[in-house]
Amino acid sequence: NKHVFMFDDTDANGKELLGGKGANLAEMTRIGLPVPYGFTISTKACNAFYEAGEQLPADVKEQVDTALEKLEKTTGKGLGDRENPLLVSVRSGAVFSMPGMMDTVLNLGMNDETVVSMAELTGEPRFAYDSYRRFIQMFSDVVLGVDSEKFERKIETHKQLHGFSADPDLSASDWKTLIKQFQTIVEQETGRAFPQDPCEQMILAIQAVFGSWNNDRAQLYRKWHGIPGHLGTAVNIQSMVFGNTGNDSGTGVAFSRNPSTGESKLYGEYLINAQGEDVVAGIRTPQAIETLRDSMPDVYQTFAETCRRLENHYRDMQDIEFTIERGKLFILQTRNGKRTAEASVRIAVDMHEEEILTKDEALMRVDPEQLGQLLHRRIDETSSFEVLAKGLPASPGAATGKVVFSADDAEDKKAAGVPVILVRPETTPDDIHGIIAAEAVVTTRGGMTSHAAVVARGMGKACISGCSDVSIDLANKTFSVGSTEVSYLETVTINGGTGELMLGELTMADPELSDEFHRLLAWADDRKHLGIRTNSDTPDDAARALAFGAEGIGLCRTEHMFMDPERIPVVREMILALTSADRQQALDRLLPMQADDFRGIFETMGSRPVTIRLLDPPLHEFLPDKEELIKETAQLEITDPASNELKTKKELLREVRRLDESNPMLGHRGCRLAMVYPEIYAMQVEAIMHAAIDRAADGAAVRPEIMIPLVGHVNELKAMRRLVKESADRVLNETGEYVAYTIGTMIEVPRAALTADAIAAEADFFSFGTNDLTQTTFGYSRDDAENKFLQRYIDDETLADNPFMVLDSEGVGELVKIGVEKGRSVKEQLKTGICGEHGGETSSIAFCHAQRLDYISCSPYRVPLARLAAAQAAV
Ligand code: ADP
Ligand code: MG
Ligand code: MG
Repeated sequence: NKHVFMFDDTDANGKELLGGKGANLAEMTRIGLPVPYGFTISTKACNAFYEAGEQLPADVKEQVDTALEKLEKTTGKGLGDRENPLLVSVRSGAVFSMPGMMDTVLNLGMNDETVVSMAELTGEPRFAYDSYRRFIQMFSDVVLGVDSEKFERKIETHKQLHGFSADPDLSASDWKTLIKQFQTIVEQETGRAFPQDPCEQMILAIQAVFGSWNNDRAQLYRKWHGIPGHLGTAVNIQSMVFGNTGNDSGTGVAFSRNPSTGESKLYGEYLINAQGEDVVAGIRTPQAIETLRDSMPDVYQTFAETCRRLENHYRDMQDIEFTIERGKLFILQTRNGKRTAEASVRIAVDMHEEEILTKDEALMRVDPEQLGQLLHRRIDETSSFEVLAKGLPASPGAATGKVVFSADDAEDKKAAGVPVILVRPETTPDDIHGIIAAEAVVTTRGGMTSHAAVVARGMGKACISGCSDVSIDLANKTFSVGSTEVSYLETVTINGGTGELMLGELTMADPELSDEFHRLLAWADDRKHLGIRTNSDTPDDAARALAFGAEGIGLCRTEHMFMDPERIPVVREMILALTSADRQQALDRLLPMQADDFRGIFETMGSRPVTIRLLDPPLHEFLPDKEELIKETAQLEITDPASNELKTKKELLREVRRLDESNPMLGHRGCRLAMVYPEIYAMQVEAIMHAAIDRAADGAAVRPEIMIPLVGHVNELKAMRRLVKESADRVLNETGEYVAYTIGTMIEVPRAALTADAIAAEADFFSFGTNDLTQTTFGYSRDDAENKFLQRYIDDETLADNPFMVLDSEGVGELVKIGVEKGRSVKEQLKTGICGEHGGETSSIAFCHAQRLDYISCSPYRVPLARLAAAQAAV
């Protein structure tokens, strides 16, 4: 059972086993890039570590020893060797990259003896002692659990005592003094001396890195990104190279293209005379990569070529970590770079144009879920506003919120429903919960590749980094820019695309969609089989959906039209009518209003199909709230017992009580309403036909599709079909006009799916109402499930997903399958679609594609996502 693999092992393969970092280090080694040599301990060993009770199993230890011997032989150095000490890094590396969430230890192998040899060998005692103190700090933090603040405080004190302003001012002997103090801290905190044996250091570090797989921030990050907990991390042991040996050394991070906009241009930053974490930690604001062209032209040249080579090799934009040691370039990591939605679209389209990707590959490169980010509103640049401060445009998007200064505070405020902007000097992986909670993040230090920037981009949140105009007073919870002071919970707006920070709330405008966006979606339209319709109840919604590429309306709900405050009194009259004649009178008043609604929608939709669902919800939804009414009548009994108002209220209350249902979701709603009160649907159908005829008279080829909700038995549909047909034909006969219309049904209770053959005989189309179908199949009331037990089910993995968001393909999906099959068995050409929330969710769309449905229907803002997801399902 092989757990450990050298970087140049040929039998090691795949991220699954080696983790992303390990697999890429091995691959880069194989293609001959300058990667410091080392080996990888597999993710399987991580699982073995946990199974053994958080201990490194003996066989893994043995394999580590063998690998270490090989590493020592290849480098000609020895771990703990006094003549020529080998120093290594012990690096985490999961299958999916989790930037900074887990731990890494640098400079391992240093102790009181090897530091002396390092100083002699390099002739740079300052460098040797600086490296040693870094090692003690990192190792103590990561492995021994000693708070790193304790060390930082010592450094601060030492600086103040000697009048130093920055770390580089400290000499070898300063660091020597501090190392002594550090070691005392470790002894006090852990009850034993700092471990001097490099082999012990290594085993402890490996265990700590495996252990960091389950630290809080890693768990939180996985939850947010939906990464399963059983994968485990690999550990990479790699010989050290040093970016902190002087001014011809440095370390940096670069992207082969701009991760914010997608522009095809090397993009990154570096620090001279620095090591490892310094760049991402955001403590010093680094220099832009272009300046390397002047300071070290040869290195820059090699680096640019390497980036291009890596991009061509992986056929994707790369995020590359590098170190320069005395003028020589080393590559320490590469991975497919995280990017914003804007960049993702642009890079996919560009890479097809550059003949790196096929069209299908380009389509697969963009996560449909990300597209929503591009549809968000942005700051209206034509409105007048004043820019208070400007930093780096680290992650685009506009956001408004109240200023907070800590991650915990961001979380609290968010929980209280207050949108916040998190303003920090820098963020660390421990702030992850605050970034999740905030609308956007502003940091005063750090570059475009700082922790905050990387994490925000990955989450699609706006971010400004390195906003050095802003000076934060954490103690008093304020920040100032020049003479302007901004206090805690004051409202600010940021534009992450320009790096600008403004006071107050700004005017927003509709999104601007790029050429690349339209190109990619046009490719998607060519590729997909599913039709994409929208759920829209108003002309405005319909127009927006059309602009996003909808091909028709799959669900126009008519109840929202009844909710209009001007109409509600008439609707109530209709509901409360005691006689059929009274009811008809109210309906006659509603009819022209409904006809107007439909006219507007038909006008917007032209000759595209429009599916209109007749009234669905229980009638009491249109009546006042019972509790309120009881309170009001009780009040009137006291203050004005003889009033007419009281009389009316009492009558109303009686009616509300009469219509009250203990289980409205399964009660008198959908077609059951019209089975009892047919005149309601008759009115709606007449309104539809009048509107259609009006439009037809203007020369438009309108296509109304009339849909009956909540059918469970074919006899219901038979009766409804007769009713609809009579009403529609009455209008056609009266006006002497002709408009084609169809009559279909929703399939949203299990019985309808199971008897879909009988039902299809009466239906021109089926639309699977997967919201209700999920409720009725699981027997979950959605309103109760979501806040009572469903979250628990998802957290403890009783259910993999929320079935109201992701179509449950095994249960609910099985009913869809049966419904489609049975329906088509009697009507080969039966039109089928879905109109639940699931119509806008990627994996559910793939399911619909697999069932060969004709279309899906989703809310306007999900339409672009649906087009792309439908294309991906077809690739
Ligand atoms: P993370 O996953 O948090 O990015 P890494 O394992 O990539 O952690 O380590 C962080 C940084 O430490 C790297 O970007 C690199 O600059 C530095 N580093 C890691 N290993 C070495 C090494 N062998 N030599 C020099 N620097 C290293
Ligand atoms: Mg890294
Ligand atoms: Mg329904």
